Amino acid sequence: MKRIGVLTSGGDNPGLNPCIRAVVRMGIHLGMDTMGIHRGYAGLIDGEIEEMSARSVGGIIGRGGTILGTARCPEFYSSKGRREALRSLNRFKIEGLVVIGGNGSLTGALELWRTGFPTIGIPSTIDNDVNGTDMSIGVDTALNTILGAIDKIKDTATSHNRAFLIETMGRESGYLALMSGIGGGAETVLIPEEDVTFDEISRKIEDAYIRGKSHCIIIVAEGWKPGTKVLVQQLGEKQEELGFSVRVTKLGHVQRGGSPSAFDRLLATRLGAAAVRELIAGKGGHVVGWGEGDIVLTPLEEAIAFEKQIDRGLYKLAQIMEK
Ligand code: ADP
Repeated sequence: MKRIGVLTSGGDNPGLNPCIRAVVRMGIHLGMDTMGIHRGYAGLIDGEIEEMSARSVGGIIGRGGTILGTARCPEFYSSKGRREALRSLNRFKIEGLVVIGGNGSLTGALELWRTGFPTIGIPSTIDNDVNGTDMSIGVDTALNTILGAIDKIKDTATSHNRAFLIETMGRESGYLALMSGIGGGAETVLIPEEDVTFDEISRKIEDAYIRGKSHCIIIVAEGWKPGTKVLVQQLGEKQEELGFSVRVTKLGHVQRGGSPSAFDRLLATRLGAAAVRELIAGKGGHVVGWGEGDIVLTPLEEAIAFEKQIDRGLYKLAQIMEK
């Protein structure tokens, strides 16, 4: 192998730049030409590809976003689209590919691998729902961003004796909501994986008021049903009984930005470097993850095979800490 490519695909997060940097610098260290592919699979099909140098990734370790850009690419779902991608790889003489992305992007990587093209994946998603790694790139920074927001909202909630619904990202995954709920000292966490009735929620708010709490923080995962909008409406109708008045903050895309945390910089550097080594060593078809303090390789099929489940023990812990 003489030339490898790297792309970032799907949902963005704050750990992508340190990972690109690690791939490029390890590639150069091992004597590879390292090509940066812009806008994920879309840029691969369109041939938006340029050679990267050690200098071209200078100064990005602390920057959020991705210098390569990311995209969703409907064409890549079809074998016709993937054939065009292979044509581009061939045209640019790229012999191996590093895909940095979440479940969807890694499924795309598996499809490419199945055509016989050496492809390796690095899990990067704020939902932390890829198997084969304790942590995906970007999760830690997103959690720190949410905790910063919770701390600030607590200040104002306490000043006014209010209950706050704070909505975190996660369409199918309650991971960010649960972890930030524990770390942020929330009174309640609402996640798609667990059913809670409206009566239970309003009772918790009322109890918090009666116990003398000065605020009530409820973390709601984006994918929790029936959703923040319905909940705030229902709570509004019971305002008198709750004690607290209710406000809402939707954190939204703030969670995808910001300077990568120390943990994410180190994780991204380790995984990026390992992915290049393993790709060259013929370990395409795998995801490079982190587990038990070391690099772990997991076949792409297994990495994307099922969504990671929420840790029920942690959900219980969150409930105990609500007191
Ligand atoms: P993420 O990687 O963050 O989960 P998406 O699910 O949007 O993001 O996937 C990103 C891109 O990966 C898609 O736009 C598509 O190009 C590619 N992809 C996703 N699923 C598949 C699939 N089943 N087959 C081929 N390509 C896929």
